[in-house]
Order: sequence, then structure tokens, then C-alpha cells
Amino acid sequence: MSKNCFLVICLACITTCSLFYVNAGVNGFILPDGEVTICEQLYWNPNFIIGNVNENSISEIWNSPKSLALANMKIDNIQEKSRCRTCTLFQDCFDNRNRCWVDIIKAYGEENWDYPDPRCNKAPKMIFDLSFNTKKEAIMV
Ligand code: SF4
Repeated sequence: MSKNCFLVICLACITTCSLFYVNAGVNGFILPDGEVTICEQLYWNPNFIIGNVNENSISEIWNSPKSLALANMKIDNIQEKSRCRTCTLFQDCFDNRNRCWVDIIKAYGEENWDYPDPRCNKAPKMIFDLSFNTKKEAIMV
């Protein structure tokens, strides 16, 4: 089964399976091939894959360096061209999950996933039209 089947599965059973939640405040979704992503909409992006249940337990995946790094982002891991890198609100902003990586990637591209959320008043002008990408996604589903 390809990863592209995931959205269909997820939409059919999102309230009863595949979703779990921990204190770190990050969601996880198990994909058909066993990979675990923190976001069902970013299943295609390796930056958000935190492990594979065929290789590790859920606990191991949840406590993996990659999972913890995403849950506890450090300013040093933000690229220098991102305005978040020099933002005085960085810690509060990340601790309170004031961002949607899906929207950030839609607005600024995959390579700029650590840019500010486009709703932030410090965010730069969007590179891509969010409404266009939303329509494109609707067609995929
Ligand atoms: S999203 Fe905005 S408020 Fe949050 S760290 Fe980035 S620039 Fe600062």
C-alpha cells in the first residue's frame, strides 16, 4: 500500500484510530508502511517522520531524538534566514505550539518549514498562495 492511501484511511477513521497524543503536545499518525508522522497532512515529508513501528516501539519512537527535537525546538536549529531565529518570543511561541507546519510549508515552501506561521505579525510576505494550495489538496482527497 502506498503512502498516498493514508489520507483516505485517516479521513475514514480519524476519531477511532491512528491518532495518539502525549504530554509533549505533538500528534502522531501511523502510516500504512509503519512510519510515524507527527502530522497527517505532512505524511510525505521526511522532516516530520519520527520513526517506524516495524523497527521500534511507540515509546521508543516517541522518545527518539527526532521526536523530542520537534517537540522541543531549539533556536539554534532554526535556519538563519527565518525570522523565528532572532525572535525574542521564540521560546514562548514554540512552547505554546503557535504554528502550523502545514500552513508554513504551503506559504513558504518545503525548505522553509521553520519560518514563522503565516499568521504571525512578524512573518514575511507569503511566497505561495495558500488558497491555491488548499484547492489542490482538496482535489487530492
Ligand atoms: S512565529 Fe512569529 S512570534 Fe513565533 S517565533 Fe516565529 S517570528 Fe516569533
